[in-house]
Amino acid sequence: MNDPSPPPRGEERTDVYGPEKRSAVMRRVKSTGTTPELAVRRLIWSLGGRYRLNRKDLPGKPDIVLAGRRLAIFVHGCFWHGHDCARGARVPKTNRDYWLSKVARNKARDAAAREALTDAKWRVEIIWECQVKDAPALAARAAGWLKAPPAISAGTGRRRS
Ligand SMILES: [Zn+2]
Repeated sequence: MNDPSPPPRGEERTDVYGPEKRSAVMRRVKSTGTTPELAVRRLIWSLGGRYRLNRKDLPGKPDIVLAGRRLAIFVHGCFWHGHDCARGARVPKTNRDYWLSKVARNKARDAAAREALTDAKWRVEIIWECQVKDAPALAARAAGWLKAPPAISAGTGRRRS
């Protein structure tokens, strides 16, 4: 998901790495982003939350889905999804426009997914990579989501009509 598409021609010479290499570098940076997701999963599990991962039938393929609670959770890398934090602002100096437009596209896609989920009566929570580092705050937040009993029977994600 979110593999960088090739940059437009003309930008290629400005990057010392070249776009291919740069993409590989950035992908590696991103793949470490699975660690925050793991941390969030472990936390939710320890609080008794049972979930499914990457529900492809839902807009934006939320990372963690608690269907019984109609709760969709995204764990977002600060750079890739354009968080307003120090890490999110760290755009590579070379091919800057390319990365900025890439992040802008991700943000637009995120916003659309969020809106579609909200319209379908899902609750959407975004956990930013940088927030995962503050374990007590995150645990308190997650405990809040799990406090209320499930609204519908778990697992189906179906709405009563
Ligand atoms: Zn951040």
